[in-house]
Order: sequence, then C-alpha cells, then structure tokens
Amino acid sequence: MRAFQLTGWQKPPELREISIPEPGPGEVLLKIGGAGACHSDLHLMEAPEGSASVTFPFTLGHENAGWVERLGPGAAGYAVGDPVLVYGPWGCGRCLNCRTGMENYCENEGVERPGGLGRNGGMANYLVVPSTRFLIPIGNLDPRDAAPLSDAALTSYHAVKRSLHLLGAGSTAVVIGAGGLGQMAIQLLRALSGATTIVAVDTAPDKLATAKRMGADEALLSGEDAVRRIKDMTLGQGANLVLDMVGIDPTLKMAARVARSLGHVTIVGLGGGALPVNFFNLPHECSVTAPYWGSIPELAEVVSLAQAGKIKMLVEHFPLDRAAEAYHLLHDGKIGGRAVILPNG
Ligand SMILES: [Zn+2]
Ligand SMILES: [Zn+2]
Repeated sequence: MRAFQLTGWQKPPELREISIPEPGPGEVLLKIGGAGACHSDLHLMEAPEGSASVTFPFTLGHENAGWVERLGPGAAGYAVGDPVLVYGPWGCGRCLNCRTGMENYCENEGVERPGGLGRNGGMANYLVVPSTRFLIPIGNLDPRDAAPLSDAALTSYHAVKRSLHLLGAGSTAVVIGAGGLGQMAIQLLRALSGATTIVAVDTAPDKLATAKRMGADEALLSGEDAVRRIKDMTLGQGANLVLDMVGIDPTLKMAARVARSLGHVTIVGLGGGALPVNFFNLPHECSVTAPYWGSIPELAEVVSLAQAGKIKMLVEHFPLDRAAEAYHLLHDGKIGGRAVILPNG
C-alpha cells in the first residue's frame, strides 16, 4: 500500500510503498476514509533533531476515520465495514487519567506514541489501531468528512467545555483566529452556550465572514479597534473566555488585554509565542492554560453534535498523491477549513 511518510528530521514527507500491516492481538485494521492534515504535522516536519520521541520512518495522519477492515485476535465489538472515528492520543489505558478517558494526559507518556505523531498514522490505505477503545462509531457520518472531528473538533470542544461555567447570560467569549479550529470553536460555543456573546477576531476579512456564518455575533479585524470594541461591549470588564487559536506573541498579548478578572485565557494555537504571567500583566485571578486534545467521552459527545447537525467542519478533499500539496497550502494559510487526505479515493 502507499503511505505518506516522514523519513527523518526536517526532511519533506514522501509517498512510499509499504506493506499492509497485520493487526495483532486486540488490534484493529482500518481502511482509511479520511486523514486530516493538521498544523502540528507542519511543526513536526520542521522540528529540530531529537525534539520529539519519534521513530522514522512513520506515516503522517493523526486525525483519522475509516471502516473496520479486520479485527486482530481477541478484538471484538465491531463488524467488518463499520464506520468509525479514531481517538488520536493513544495512552497506556491503565493509569488514572487513562481510566477516566483522558488518554490525552496519560501519566505514562511515551509508552504509546499516537499514530501519525511518532508511529504510523492514517495517511495510507490502512491503519492499525492498537485497541478497540480508540474507536468511536459514527453511524451515518461519512469518514471522508468526519475525520477532523477527532482533532480539530475534539480539541476545540475540550477548550470550550472546560470553561462553560463562565458562559452564562451576559457573558462574552472571544475567539482569536477564525481558521479551521476557530470556526469549529465558534460553532461549539453556539451549540453549548446559547447565552454567550461570541466575538471572532482575525486578520483576514474572508475568515471573519465565515465566522459570522458559523454563529459569531461580532467579527472584528484584529488591532486596537478590536480591543476597544470588546472592552466597550463588556462595559470595560473584558471577556469571560478568550480562546487563542493562533498562539503567537501578538495574539497572546491581545488575549491578556481583552480577558476579565476570574476569566480564562486558553491557548489552543501552536504558534509558540510567550505570554508573561505575573501580578501586573493579566486581570486578577484570570487563568491561563494550554490544553492538549480531549478525552474519549468528549469525542463521543462531538460525534453526537455532528450527527445532530449542530457542528460541521468545512473540508477540502485531496487524493493521497496530492498530500504534499495539501500541506503546502496549509503552510501558506490557503486552506479555508480542514484539508483531508483520501487514501482510498
Ligand atoms: Zn492535530
Ligand atoms: Zn495512561
């Protein structure tokens, strides 16, 4: 089969011919429907030597959906052809966090590398998933469109849900960066909190127009005017929740300026900027956090929202032999929603 693989540090990924893997005991072989291209893949491609625990070569793609092709010995509960979403952060399954479904915070990190982030992922015809506990049935959803639910949507969902208690009547939530993840965050805010006022901020007018369509009450071009407008809207108090989907110095600075006392600043974007946190720099008792992905129960909730038509990811499909092009477009900011690679057409 063909697989889009990283072969070494700071080398461009390449399409290679590898053999179809065998599912071992408890494992499941999936025929891939779609594999999303994520910004964190770009980080991995550019990462300095030794900066992550990976074994080359490995297949990219940590945002996967497909159909059960074959069950390994002892794996049960699924039939061949079942459409499923793959939960991406593969933990040990035994530690306390894993047992509550938060395998994204496995206490034995490094035991299991997530597929696509250090071991073989989904940008290939087939993928071996190490356990059926990482599969979420998706029913009538098409795996080719559903793949981004497992990262783009799950990551945004977790970031919103942990702050829901702040988003009652009269509250304001600001989403900085209205790309694929930001658009999803806006839909999730709309779906989970009917009461909160949603403000989208971006540098691109077309993304702001999309943000409005996705449910933002206000869409503001980033800059001083946006800061002033948010302060005005909130009677000088600032927003209860600020989601920074970009994470570079200027967006983090803005996030700190538009948040309120007792609010949350949540850094989702991997921009790598820095926000000085001290007594003077943030409103009092404002929390700053950088979550990673989400839990297995949260992924099941995300699937429910998608099945109910309450969230929808904008996807652009690419055949496997155009995967490199998809990443170039992603790198240049030219993917409007999410690029999804279709290894099996
Ligand atoms: Zn990702
Ligand atoms: Zn664990």
